[in-house]
Amino acid sequence: MTTIKRVYTFGNKEAEGNTKMRNLLGGKGANLAEMNLIGVPVPPGFTITTDVCTEYYKLGQEKVVELLKKEVEAAVKYVEKIMDAEFGSNDNPLLLSVRSGARVSMPGMMDTVLNLGLNDQAVEGIAKKTGNERFAWDSYRRFIQMYGDVVMGVAAETKEDHNPFEEIIDHIKEEKGIENDTDLSVEDLKEMVRRFKAAIMKQTGKEFPNCPWEQLWGSVMAVFNSWNTPRAKYYRMLNKFSDEWGTAVNVQAMVFGNMGKNSGTGVAFTRDSSTGENLFNGEYLIDAQGEDVVAGIRTPQQITKEHSLRWAELAKVSESDRANKYPSLEEVMPEIYIELHNLQRQLELHYKDMQDLEFTIQEGKLWILQTRSGKRTGAAMVKIAMDMIREGVIDEKTALLSLNPNKLDELLHPVFDKKAIQEAKLMAKGLPASPGAATGQIVFFADEAKNYENSILVRVETSPEDLEGMNIARGILTARGGMTSHAAVVARGMGKCCVSGAGEVKIDYKNRKMIMSGAEYKEGDWISLNGTVGEVYDGKIKTIDPEVSGDLAEILELSEKHTRMSVRTNADTPHDAQVARDFGAKGIGLCRTEHMFFEGDRIKAMREMILATDEAGRRKALDKLLPYQREDFEGIFEAMQDLPVTVRLLDPPLHEFVPHEEANQTDMAKEMGVSVEEIKRLVDDLHEFNPMLGHRGCRLGNTYPEISEMQARAIIEAAVNLKKRGIRAIPEIMIPLTGEVEEMKLQEKIVRETAEKVFAEKNERVDYLVGTMIEIPRACLLADDIANHAEFFSFGTNDLTQMTFGYSRDDAGKFLPIYLEKAILKNDPFQILDQDGVGQLVRMGTERGRQTKPNLKVGICGEHGGEPSSVEFCNSVGMDYVSCSPFRVPIARLAAAQANLKQ
Ligand code: PEP
Ligand code: MG
Repeated sequence: MTTIKRVYTFGNKEAEGNTKMRNLLGGKGANLAEMNLIGVPVPPGFTITTDVCTEYYKLGQEKVVELLKKEVEAAVKYVEKIMDAEFGSNDNPLLLSVRSGARVSMPGMMDTVLNLGLNDQAVEGIAKKTGNERFAWDSYRRFIQMYGDVVMGVAAETKEDHNPFEEIIDHIKEEKGIENDTDLSVEDLKEMVRRFKAAIMKQTGKEFPNCPWEQLWGSVMAVFNSWNTPRAKYYRMLNKFSDEWGTAVNVQAMVFGNMGKNSGTGVAFTRDSSTGENLFNGEYLIDAQGEDVVAGIRTPQQITKEHSLRWAELAKVSESDRANKYPSLEEVMPEIYIELHNLQRQLELHYKDMQDLEFTIQEGKLWILQTRSGKRTGAAMVKIAMDMIREGVIDEKTALLSLNPNKLDELLHPVFDKKAIQEAKLMAKGLPASPGAATGQIVFFADEAKNYENSILVRVETSPEDLEGMNIARGILTARGGMTSHAAVVARGMGKCCVSGAGEVKIDYKNRKMIMSGAEYKEGDWISLNGTVGEVYDGKIKTIDPEVSGDLAEILELSEKHTRMSVRTNADTPHDAQVARDFGAKGIGLCRTEHMFFEGDRIKAMREMILATDEAGRRKALDKLLPYQREDFEGIFEAMQDLPVTVRLLDPPLHEFVPHEEANQTDMAKEMGVSVEEIKRLVDDLHEFNPMLGHRGCRLGNTYPEISEMQARAIIEAAVNLKKRGIRAIPEIMIPLTGEVEEMKLQEKIVRETAEKVFAEKNERVDYLVGTMIEIPRACLLADDIANHAEFFSFGTNDLTQMTFGYSRDDAGKFLPIYLEKAILKNDPFQILDQDGVGQLVRMGTERGRQTKPNLKVGICGEHGGEPSSVEFCNSVGMDYVSCSPFRVPIARLAAAQANLKQ
């Protein structure tokens, strides 16, 4: 019988794992092992695998402890040997940290326990061993707080309440009249320990455990439990990470940043995670533990002098204050700084990606606690990739594959209108934590962000519980915290505008208000944030559309170079067509014509057509619509000159064009010169029990051929007119909702005969194609027959998904969210193409169509055409193009290139 290895040790430049084992060891564990292998100073420790997390959820705590016991005890011995200390000893205790680590980093989502192994006896031992009583008691009180919070679940009772531990700290400081944690005396810390333990007893009815092994197992299980907290689940849902991966647990010897002036801790980025600038940067604190830097409790200092100077300017701190109170690490510990600088360079070149490091300096010795690919904004992602190509660190293919297409979305968001921002009233300044522009109404609690369509979440500082609200809000403003605070890091990961550490903003949660520059703002008041420079403005500010230039343009050019499929757009106005063309669309894949019937007088003519009782009446009304349609097509063809434009003939059921409210019906009756009763009768007549499966699509064109005839005429006349003006239009006429060959045959006949008539009348010809949407399952099955009458196929995966699943597009909102929550479905099939089911039909339809016509042009125009995993699928079935909404064109272009490179 082979035994399963559940624990992997590392330390002293040796390791049982390596960077390739991230699925088993988690990202953090794999990198800790790898760092040992390349000689980076890392505190020794061991990783319990992600598989054990899965076992834990299957077998429960008791069984898992039994399975792990031997290996964990041996691993602790291994660490004891390297550290020359003993776990559980009173005189020379080994202290441990316990951290989570999934295969992808989920910053702040799961739990950590530090200083584990301390108890009433060991604290004395540490005090003696280090000769630093204050440090020993400071570590102990931190441990009790973390353990109480993470393992024993002690927390604030309501959201307006304070955390009981924070409250105790505040009380003691108040009683002693001190401001900083660093001013607490040994006696204060002892008192704090006493009160912390009492608070734990009061809230949980349990003693704080004195036994180190009990502490260790409790912490390991707490990390496993933290995999399934609502916030972790939400984060996975947001990022489409699988619930089945599980987290590893990393247990490491503690190193201490809180051992006095010669110690410290920090977080660093090898490049700027906001802008992508190739500048090492980060924050640190002297005499502190890691959590202090990210928690936003103390004002962190900059690692480099350059950033320290920049920070002082933003924070309006004088140079003498900066140099005395907030100096950079570069100035305070120049040798450590150089070592850190060299290590960050080594790690970036080793991993060939921007790294996010955590480090601790213990009494003048530098330790690296973690390295991982740094979260970054879309702008930073693009700049870093292009810079690394230019620096020769990575090649074009690696660069393209390293990008997350969805993050390009951030670069396509609106920015403040230049004139409007000049006139706006600046109320406060903070740190430019995550770039972008946001305008919204103030909310002070994350769970209330959803109460407004556009909200700005305003907090003293954020915590992982706030994740969902941060995602919903348009922007985030915090009064405390630096560039590596929770708010800043998470906002950058989400690509959400954030201003952090705006100290002049005074927040009053209880009364739901805040004060900036002397003015009071209540919940619901409008403010605006500029996360690029860290500014907070009064009121709403106008925004404008972004443009593609610089590094983004270069990435898109590279995508073009490495792609096989082209990207078109779904657009039905000249403006949208132009926007998409500027984003690099190579044509229109779907121009829906129904929207064109609503403006101004058109709707009158449309309703007249619907009201008509015979063909002659309909033709009369259609004659009125013809010039409008022709004009619309001329506009779109002109915007897309020299590129193909797929125009779809009328698709929706006619009832969508008549009013359903009494008042509007009365208006219509007046307008048409008929009685209200008549209108009502008509509306009743058009009523269908299931309009999505009713009189729509080519069923309209086959029951009222004159509609298709008018539309075909408008398209062809527009193309001929443009040709006479020297503009080349390439129309592709598309028949919707074909399910039967005869339907397509009749429609093709109408279009071709109409085209010939127009050519004869105008004495001029243009090239055009006739094709069909494939959006009914039967069309996929009979695609070989249908292809006899179609020059192209375009998969309408919105309807195809609807009809394959049997889920109504209009009603799925009632059950889909529950299906997703219960994991009955992995994804919303209307957003992410269901490759298992709908995908089979798409593949079959493409293959059968091409059996008949090997060169049949095939594309997709459902919403999935702009979603990266669906684009990859389309590439794999051999489609010629994908088509998506204008603002997703850049995303689809990158995704198409990636799909090609992966194949
Ligand atoms: C589709 O069904 O995928 C499609 C693009 O058409 P519509 O969304 O207009 O039904
Ligand atoms: Mg459709």
